[in-house]
Amino acid sequence: MPGRPFLQIPGPTLVPDRIVRAMAQPIIDHRGPRFAMLVQECLTGLKDIFQLQRGHIVLYPGSGTGAWEAAIVNTLSPGDRVLACVNGHFATGFARTATAYGVECDRLELPYGAGVPAAEVEERLRRDTTHEIRAVLMVHNETSTGVTSNVSAVRAAMDRAGHPALLLVDTVSSLASIDFRLDEWGVDVALTGPQKGLMLPPGMAILAVSERAIAASEKAKCPRAYWDWQPVLERNRRGEFPYTPATMLLFGLREAIALIAEEGLVNVFARHARLAEACRRAVRALGLEILCRDPAEHSNTLTAVVMPSGFDSDEFVRFAAQRLDLSLGIGLGVVKGKVFRIGHLGNLNEIDLLGGLAGVEMMLKEFGVPVRLGAGLAAAQEFLTAPR
Ligand code: PLP
Repeated sequence: MPGRPFLQIPGPTLVPDRIVRAMAQPIIDHRGPRFAMLVQECLTGLKDIFQLQRGHIVLYPGSGTGAWEAAIVNTLSPGDRVLACVNGHFATGFARTATAYGVECDRLELPYGAGVPAAEVEERLRRDTTHEIRAVLMVHNETSTGVTSNVSAVRAAMDRAGHPALLLVDTVSSLASIDFRLDEWGVDVALTGPQKGLMLPPGMAILAVSERAIAASEKAKCPRAYWDWQPVLERNRRGEFPYTPATMLLFGLREAIALIAEEGLVNVFARHARLAEACRRAVRALGLEILCRDPAEHSNTLTAVVMPSGFDSDEFVRFAAQRLDLSLGIGLGVVKGKVFRIGHLGNLNEIDLLGGLAGVEMMLKEFGVPVRLGAGLAAAQEFLTAPR
């Protein structure tokens, strides 16, 4: 189809031309001096994005799923207990990864559409008087439901309970789009992928780790080879990796870091917040419901829209892809067939969003959902043109 592809899924996101061009160059020796400089620039730039000064960045070729595994195997031992906050499809996957390594998960089960309640984390930790729980696992932005949990409130709850557990946070669909502060919020491991807020093609597992997490890794007994972060940290000091790295992605990462620095991290967050609010207003004006009920937990990177009863959201997503080449996110986990997701993150501006919303309206109408064409767009446009 001619024109711009409307990849309105919550990641991978469209890769800006500047990043594509940065990756289109001859491959370099991954043990040479140019590569060492590239690594240094990437590690330093990522620290700024994670808002981290005291800890370390660890990169692997991989994906977010691999990053879950790296976070678990480096900090925990088989038989350890963790408190896993499970409020969606990806939180379930994170907990399942821990279970696969023999870690016992105390699950704090939450409905799809809810965030992690800090008070309940506090209560669970207070009950653990012998401090058997080694870590709290949570997803900052649950991509299956469009819910952002308050990480800083969870850290405060852990502190109030006087509990020494590590805090392991999945930031796959929040980093570089929604404010996240590793040092200030006392996060021990934050993990992400490159294909969302960082605007890169998929293909990396990225971790930011605190000094406490490094200390924990010295005692952790989970079996590990590829995901062992010790050799990575050691070889990174010499500007190398203990394996052949994803060189082209690192070229792209350096450019992504530059793009984000030019816009300014706070402006990146503000842009995402503004586009997200415009999207939510459009959805409501169409008479549709947003899965996330608490406005304080609305995600600024995606909106999960409840499909009106009698319609299957996955069929709708397939229909939009075939008819307009408009890619929306399907329902995942227990909301499969019940919600579709509009991604609004990464390399996106107001007109991009409006184009996507126009497509959503048209497709809903053609699919048979009773909507008034233009109602959502007008609500979004009103919001975007209102004096700030
Ligand atoms: N965690 C979250 C919150 C995600 O959104 C995703 C993927 O969308 C993952 C983990 C898994 O990442 P990957 O698909 O890169 O393995």
